This record gives sequence, C-alpha cells and structure tokens, in this order.
Amino acid sequence: MAAAAQPAQLQTSASAVQEVREITRIERIGAHSHIRGLGLDDGLNARQTSHGMVGQLHARRSAGLILEMIREGKIAGRAVLIAGQPGTGKTAIAMGMAQALGQDTPFTAIAGSEIYSLEMSKTEALTQAFRKSIGVRIKEETEIIEGEVVEVQIDRPATASGAKVGKLTLKTTEMETIYDLGQKMIESLTKEKVQAGDVVTIDKASGRISRLGRSFTRARDYDATGGQTKFVQCPEGELQKRKEVVHTVTLHEIDVINSRTQGFLALFSGDTGEIKTEVRDQINSKVAEWREEGKAEIVPGVLFVDEVHMLDIECFSFLNRALESDMAPVLIMATNRGITRIRGTNYQSPHGIPIDLLDRLLIIATHPYKESEVKQILKIRCEEEDVEMSEDALTVLTKIGMETSLRYAIQLITTANLVCRKRKGLEVAVEDVKRVYSLFLDERRSEEYLKEYQQEFMF
Ligand code: ATP
Repeated sequence: MAAAAQPAQLQTSASAVQEVREITRIERIGAHSHIRGLGLDDGLNARQTSHGMVGQLHARRSAGLILEMIREGKIAGRAVLIAGQPGTGKTAIAMGMAQALGQDTPFTAIAGSEIYSLEMSKTEALTQAFRKSIGVRIKEETEIIEGEVVEVQIDRPATASGAKVGKLTLKTTEMETIYDLGQKMIESLTKEKVQAGDVVTIDKASGRISRLGRSFTRARDYDATGGQTKFVQCPEGELQKRKEVVHTVTLHEIDVINSRTQGFLALFSGDTGEIKTEVRDQINSKVAEWREEGKAEIVPGVLFVDEVHMLDIECFSFLNRALESDMAPVLIMATNRGITRIRGTNYQSPHGIPIDLLDRLLIIATHPYKESEVKQILKIRCEEEDVEMSEDALTVLTKIGMETSLRYAIQLITTANLVCRKRKGLEVAVEDVKRVYSLFLDERRSEEYLKEYQQEFMF
C-alpha cells in the first residue's frame, strides 16, 4: 500500500501538500496574522510593543521561558495552560510561541467543542489534531532551475569548536554545477583561483573567506580563523543541476495522502474522516526509518486547544497519555473559566481540568488590557489590514473596544473601511466607525435586543 511507498513517491506529493497547507493556515490564523513572535529581548524580557505583540508583559515573559525549555528539550510530558478573560490574547500568545519556534513549526488551533463531531470519535479528532502539530522535515534532491538562488555546501572538517558544515548562497546565472558555483564564490571573495580539494579558511563570525592555501592546517590556524574549510570535490556531471531541498509536512498530511479511503483531495476539503490505526502505524515506522537514514527529522509543533474546559474526562485521559510520546507536540491549552465541573464527571476542579493533568501544567495568567494597549493593538491591526484610519476614529474605536470587546473592535476595522471606500473616502473617519457600530451589534447590545423582543422570536 501507499504508506510503504518509497520516500521519493511521498515527497512528490509533499511539495503539493505544502501549498495546500499554506492556504488553510492563512485562513485559520487571519485574526492573528500580525503576530510575528513574542517580542522579547535577549534577556527574555517582553518589549512593550514588538513582533506585533502589545503589553501582557508577564505572560509573554513566561511564554518565553517555556520556549527556552522547549528548545532545550525539557518540556516532554508537560503542557501549558493560559488562563484569562476572553480577548486577553491567549491565542495570540500561543501563536507568538509557534512563530518564535520557527517558520516551519506546525501550529494547530482547535476549540474544545470542535472535537464533538458526528463524523469521528473524540479520540480520533484529538489524534488528528496531534498529528497536524507534528512536522516531518523531509530532504530530497531536485533540479536547479536557471536563475534560482541555491545554497552551495562546502565541506568543513570538524574543528575543536565543533563546526562541521558551512553554507554559502549564490544565484545561478546559467546552468552550472554546484562545483562551479562554489568556485565562483570563492574566487569573488579571494580574487584567487581555487581548485577542488584546496583548503580555505573561513571567518566563522562574518562567514568571509579570508585566506586561501594549503598551508593553513595547523591547530592554531583553526583557532585564529574559527575553522578550516575544504572545498567539496564534486565529480563533474554527477551533481550537475541538482540540489537538496527540504519540505516540511505534517504527520497528518502523510496519513491522509496514504489513506486509501480518503486520498489526497481530502486535504482540500478537510473532510478526512477517520484514519485507520494500521495506516498510522505504517507511517510511524516509515518515518522512523527515514529518521534513522537521515532523510527526515521530526519538528514538534504547537497544538493549541482553546476552551479546554469543553473537553471531557475521556479526552483528558487521552491527552495525559499522548503527552508521554517522544514525538508529542507542545500542548498549549486556554480557558476563561474558573472552578467548574469536569465534563463527564460530577467533580468540580479549577478550569474544569482534572487534578492529575493540572499538576503537570505550567500555568500562565493573562489580564485585561489598558486603554493605551487596546489602541496600540487596533493600530497594528489597521496596518495589517492596510487600512488608513484617522487619529480621532482610532480613539473612538478604542473606546468601543474598552466598552465592548477587543475582538468586536477589531471586526469593525474591515467593515468601517468598506463604508469609507463606498463614500470614496481616503481614510476611515469617526462617522464610518459610528456607522458600523450602529449596523453591527456587540454581545451586550445583542443580548439587550433579544430581551426586548424575545416574545417575537420562535421557541
Ligand atoms: P478567547 O478567550 O475569547 O478565546 P483570547 O484570549 O484567545 O480570547 P485573542 O483571540 O488572542 O484572545 O485576542 C483577540 C484579538 O486581539 C486577536 O486578533 C489577537 O491577535 C489580538 N490580540 C490580543 N492580545 C494581543 C496582544 N497582546 N498583542 C497584539 N494583539 C493581540
């Protein structure tokens, strides 16, 4: 069956999958697209406004510390809980963590209630969410296209400082061998001719090739220059027009592609149904094989479960078990509940989470924003959505945000901009904001309206 396919076969599909994923990702995270990281300095202190993040300094610093633990591989078997009122940036912080972990770190966001679907069991829905959050970085060789930027690998013998491989980036002007490209690079930097097998020295800090010659082989030269580089010898013709590329796909995408009943198109519709355990077992062993052969590596991503109090006791047991796996993603949960009943039981507990799971959580608290912070967030959102807004309009929108909710105020940016464009205005003015405020109800006014007219609704 397909799961046992050769890596090359799977990888071909992988590039197509990557594009699909990017589209779905954009749609899903649109509301947080301004978040580019946690906005911390080197000492892990949060800057007031940075990377699209505003305020919430304590929570961001705590999230930064957790990132350090993740990077050092010390998070295994634990998870994070972000607790705070609605609209206090719980999802934004989780997004910031995923961004800070790297571009190809998978980030999956689900709401607790989403797993109660008719099409699949709760544990299947959670398994899919877990596997969507585990990336597999697959390496493959492909043709170099003319004019494309490629990385030229040079062989750097291991030094006392541990440096092994250096990479130079060059743009191809015509079909050339990787060898030719490297040759050009070295020549342009040193103005000297090199031959395959020559030993050159590279300044590790600047990446510049400073000297060239066969005599730099003594130990102190390693120290002085930061490492020696032996230009890789590529037998001409053999490596011609080929380069190594890396795709990151998720385990779930590999599951879907290789699941005979669903097929590749299911990735577009998202309608993947249940995936058989045998398919997953085969994929796990295939991926383990690739890892051993150095063809793939695992990229643990972030699984964000919002409204975690909506999960029931069976789901919590599943999470407890799933966290033990060595491939487990970082689990970040969020809730705006205090002490409440654990679904599926008659017991109450903090956030509706069983005590044994609570015990392994790192808990981060978020707090309501100050007016100046709401204004700053709204300003960032305007920039993100390419909306010009007058200072007065922004002040009015901020007031609305404080009285209703941050999310409601953010929604009004797009709608106010549409109204502005209809009247052929160049920047959103106070009148546009007022107009959309009267057109669209926020939660409180919607409730008042319902109370007033409840007799006229159907029961
Ligand atoms: P809920 O409990 O309702 O799920 P939440 O705490 O997850 O809410 P978010 O969805 O993160 O809140 O925040 C609402 C909006 O405000 C989002 O668009 C988010 O990106 C933005 N936002 C929230 N906090 C910040 C922040 N500190 N910096 C920048 N943007 C923020």
